[in-house]
Amino acid sequence: MIIFGTKGYLYQLAILTLVCGNCGNPAAHTLRKRVTKFTLFFVPLFPLSTKYATQCTFCGAEHKVTKEQAEQLQAQAVGGPGAQPYGQPQQPYQHPGV
Ligand SMILES: [Zn+2]
Repeated sequence: MIIFGTKGYLYQLAILTLVCGNCGNPAAHTLRKRVTKFTLFFVPLFPLSTKYATQCTFCGAEHKVTKEQAEQLQAQAVGGPGAQPYGQPQQPYQHPGV
């Protein structure tokens, strides 16, 4: 009998100060990597999928980012203060027609 399945791993890569697209606050965001691995007999063999997201610590909103964006954000986090969020000015999301 072969026992196989998946197992999820969550990594916190960095903490960044970004203007949240949801609440509009310049709040701390955690940059997370979620890896789903294929397991055989409960031994993780290889990753099936890798997803990246930032989560606002102010309102809890999660924003999906691409691997490229995640790497860029991580590089900025290492670069320290003065780095621009997302590498370019970002406007907070505004509700249309309000
Ligand atoms: Zn927020």
